[in-house]
Amino acid sequence: MEFNFDIVNVLVLIATCTNLTYGLIIYSRNRRSATNLAFFFLTIGVGFWGASMLVFRGFVNDIDLGLSSRLLYASAAVIPFASLYFAIIFPKDIASLSLIERWVIPTPFFIAVVISLIPGFLINGAHVVFGNENFIDFNIKFHIFYVFYIAGYFSWVFMILIQKYRHAERELRTQVLYILIGTLTTTSIALVTNLLLPFFHVFALNWVGQVGVAAMITSITYSISRHHLFDIKIIATELFVFFLWVFILARALIADSLMERVSNLILFVITVGVGLLLVRSVIKEVEAREQIEKLAKDLEAANERLKELDQLKSEFVSIASHQLRSPLTAIKGYASLILEGSFGKAPPAIGEAVGKILDSSSRLVLIIEDFLNLSRIEQGRMKYDFAPTDVEAMVKSVVGELAPTIKTAGLSISFTTDNQPPYKSNLDVGKIKQVIGNIIDNSIKYTPRGSIQVSLKKETQNAKRVTYNVGVEGVQNTEGQNNKILITVADTGIGISKETLPTLFEKFSRAKDASKTNTTGTGLGLYVAKQMVEAHGGRIWAESDGVGKGSRFKVELGGV
Ligand code: ADP
Repeated sequence: MEFNFDIVNVLVLIATCTNLTYGLIIYSRNRRSATNLAFFFLTIGVGFWGASMLVFRGFVNDIDLGLSSRLLYASAAVIPFASLYFAIIFPKDIASLSLIERWVIPTPFFIAVVISLIPGFLINGAHVVFGNENFIDFNIKFHIFYVFYIAGYFSWVFMILIQKYRHAERELRTQVLYILIGTLTTTSIALVTNLLLPFFHVFALNWVGQVGVAAMITSITYSISRHHLFDIKIIATELFVFFLWVFILARALIADSLMERVSNLILFVITVGVGLLLVRSVIKEVEAREQIEKLAKDLEAANERLKELDQLKSEFVSIASHQLRSPLTAIKGYASLILEGSFGKAPPAIGEAVGKILDSSSRLVLIIEDFLNLSRIEQGRMKYDFAPTDVEAMVKSVVGELAPTIKTAGLSISFTTDNQPPYKSNLDVGKIKQVIGNIIDNSIKYTPRGSIQVSLKKETQNAKRVTYNVGVEGVQNTEGQNNKILITVADTGIGISKETLPTLFEKFSRAKDASKTNTTGTGLGLYVAKQMVEAHGGRIWAESDGVGKGSRFKVELGGV
């Protein structure tokens, strides 16, 4: 027996092997999936078609040409039939077929196979044409039926795929699109080269379909593997390894000498081992990556959930604080009415007690205000009204407001400037007053004895050359100077340890022994202050020489 190894046959052989390998790989991935099974069935049909073409073109001298041409057309009939089932089932794992799909679809297929196989029905005979493709003599009536069967079934396939494309979700849609493009191009080419041209007795391109169908099978393989993200990498490795085996085995089989045959066989055995290892390691790597991918997704979901919870918490704090505010106003109001004597003069003991009620409720109002600020910041609802402001006057007024408390605490306070007025800055007075008030208030709380020094300083730097992103050079302000205003609140209090300093401005952060000096703090004041100062484009930080050595809180704001 002699095989005609021309270039066309080599191409058909490669395409056929590739298609069958794809089918096997997809089937072995998930044997229970109806989609994978339908695809496997399709590749078997395609494989038979390719093999029949090889017999038809390759063994012209040894095998009855009539028989091989009948096999060729019988196997081709499997392809539209299998494609139709694949299109119906894809992408489901379990096939639920209707009665029509179950019984009607196989009938024309069955007829097509029977008329192809029986001599004298579709094919009367075939003969070799030297220097050209072999000629097949068709029976016209059956040939028309056959063409209609193939074209009709593929039209049905396209209708189903288009329908699926239109109704599919995003990812599935792309998968269907790949299948549609692959199938449409391949079949339209094959319909012309393998059906229409032979109908008009032109057989020159009779083999194109067998080669081109590899594009269709590749596109479907790619689509099926798409949702297993890295599957395609495994498939490519398997394909490569498989071809390597076939190549080396073929070399062993066609070797001229025994020596060559043995060495090739040894090489084959080694390649089988190494190839299996390679495929296994790729599978392992892919699985690990898929696992990581999944973990990342889970983490993302958990993160989302945490964000939601955080949001809910902020809302809860906001609502609870609002609810607490109104009864407190009533408590404060009535306490001051009692103290003022609106209900008659209170005895000193009651007066003292009510005074404490008033103090505590005032403190509570401040704490609630902190919580409200916190939730405003977290929900992005904090509003700022910027206006050019005289910082010196502003700081003076805060010091003035706190003077009675400072006096009661037995402390002294001083206010100095570096004598470079005016100290102008563009800011939201209410917010910055609150920040400075908070810092001085802290100094009062954390300074058992001694003094508090508040100072104001202008920092003038020579303007830096600023390059804007359009590439134009410029300076930050018109005077060519970059003014900053530094407000410092220094005290002789308990100081701050090195370990506490970096965390001071975090949410709910309090020094370990802060509660010894002041029991009511929330650890929110400095956090809120930092957010407010940063919203002004400024900086706030603390310095201390150590525990017991006092603290310095500094706020730097941009000047105008
Ligand atoms: P609170 O005073 O309500 O605890 P803050 O955010 O205002 O919350 O302050 C956070 C912490 O910073 C305080 O608990 C305290 O430990 C420390 N702290 C703030 N100001 C001073 C200061 N002037 N001297 C020493 N420690 C301070």
